[in-house]
Amino acid sequence: SKRQVKDKVAIITGAGSGIGRAAALLLARNGAKVCLIDLNNNRSESLEQEINQLGGESLFVDTDVSDPERVQHAIQSAVDRFGQVDIVFANAGINGILSPIEDLTAEAWDHTLTTNLKGTFLTVKYTIPHMKHNGGSIIITSSINGNRTFSGFGMSAYSTSKAGQMAFAKMAALELARYKIRVNVICPGAIQTNIGENTKKTPQVEKIKIPVNYPEGSQPLEHGPGQPEQVADLVLFLASQDSSHISGTEIFIDGVESLL
Ligand code: NAD
Repeated sequence: SKRQVKDKVAIITGAGSGIGRAAALLLARNGAKVCLIDLNNNRSESLEQEINQLGGESLFVDTDVSDPERVQHAIQSAVDRFGQVDIVFANAGINGILSPIEDLTAEAWDHTLTTNLKGTFLTVKYTIPHMKHNGGSIIITSSINGNRTFSGFGMSAYSTSKAGQMAFAKMAALELARYKIRVNVICPGAIQTNIGENTKKTPQVEKIKIPVNYPEGSQPLEHGPGQPEQVADLVLFLASQDSSHISGTEIFIDGVESLL
């Protein structure tokens, strides 16, 4: 099968938990060398150990994706250790503070946009010099929220950041095609991860009745959230040569949630 990533080098942001963690494990099980980028040291260090115990090769670099110097340093560390970069999974993201727009602070807006959107830009920017001679695959985690009003109130900053990632990915796919670098976006629906741990809600948003994900009587593919491993399968497909003619596209992975 072409669906392999053996000896490829993958950089994964937000690798310590959830979707990033599942993707790191799957890529490593398939023979990729993985550079794990995250803020969460405990989870990331245990993942690094787990992969290395499986006989894989991984390197954790403690990095805030919104800090240009740290991102550049992390990518350089991956190149120093593994010699190249073939796959980038720009996945780190936060829900931030959920608030009605009139109560959302400028700081909260900036924090969400900086983490999710600027972080994606920086991750892509600093890997291009290492990918432009051999080509590669970049995968960006957006969300079904990027083009609809999932969960109703309180998610304006998050949804804006996710829509921004989609526009950025299209421009990147166009620009980077000349280097044989593909860029694609994945748009998960609700996935069972730890993203809720650091999600904050203002009292104002708590008071608003938020529409439910699954309207009464609807029949989605599965009731309840998808699993990070299901998303990882898509990441592996997009990372490998099985998707060699796919670039600049968005793939929804939500079990029809966005259509309900
Ligand atoms: P998660 O919280 O389980 O994992 C995200 C990881 O990103 C965490 O380990 C966290 O420490 C890390 N991170 C956060 N800010 C960071 C920063 N500034 N620098 C480096 N690392 C940082 O959440 P997840 O659900 O796996 O989220 C991964 C991506 O999936 C996010 O972009 C999220 O928006 C997107 N997404 C999630 C869902 C869902 O329902 N879980 C749905 C759609 C999209």
